[in-house]
Amino acid sequence: MKRLFLTDSTETTHYNPAKPGVVSTSIKKERTGEWFVSFGLETDDADLPAKPDVDSLDASNSVGIDLGILNYIHTSDGKAVDWLDLEDDYERLRREQRKLSRKQNGSNNYEKQRLIVAKVKRQIRWKVLDYQHKLTTWLVRKYDAVFVEDLDVAGMLQSDGNARNKQDAAWRQFITLLEYKGDLYGTHVVQVEARGTTKECASCGVETEKPIWVREHSCPSCGFETDRDANAAMNVLQRGFSEVGLGWPESTPVETALPTDTPEFQRVSAKRVVETGSLGA
Ligand SMILES: [Zn+2]
Repeated sequence: MKRLFLTDSTETTHYNPAKPGVVSTSIKKERTGEWFVSFGLETDDADLPAKPDVDSLDASNSVGIDLGILNYIHTSDGKAVDWLDLEDDYERLRREQRKLSRKQNGSNNYEKQRLIVAKVKRQIRWKVLDYQHKLTTWLVRKYDAVFVEDLDVAGMLQSDGNARNKQDAAWRQFITLLEYKGDLYGTHVVQVEARGTTKECASCGVETEKPIWVREHSCPSCGFETDRDANAAMNVLQRGFSEVGLGWPESTPVETALPTDTPEFQRVSAKRVVETGSLGA
């Protein structure tokens, strides 16, 4: 049984309409007062596209992703993708919440304002979901294998700060979408051990301590220099290869995907992703 994320209307077209049977229906009243119906569809695994043979995977058709703590993702082949800027939306939410706090609990005006707050919250949720749909669809269509860091659940629970928790929830949703789309499009999606991806040199494997403010990777052992998160993404890619049983790739992403003397990354704005659903070529 596959779960469908029906919010993205474009997704449903990839399903074989001849086959699925509706196995569950749920009706839910949102806090905005609106009603939503969702269907659980059953599909035959045989209808899903086959994933490429792992032997065919290499640094040219696979990608490692570093989930940046500074609100963006980095890919092992040279893209830094900005996270959505939701400052204006959160500002509006705070404004509407302040208004709500001034209304008398239970009054008609309170109820009206409560709906406005719920709608602003929903707008934010949908924006994030839409953005993640576009990012993940682009990734699984472009690559044969997508490797991401395994999120450390224990670490997340211990971490303090609401912002951090929010971001962890966003990453979890991102990975869930990615895995589901990997099945839909026939792309390997594999989580790899996240520990040490930043410290380890993607070129020679030597570990170096790196405080958070150091944005460059500069290996004291082999001299490899690149962006800190690019190095982490390359490590994710290499760990992905050994995770699927390919072992260490003959040509590392360091050699094939990125000239070591030009650590410049292509920055992709969130706006571009939202408008075109693409990160470029
Ligand atoms: Zn090195």
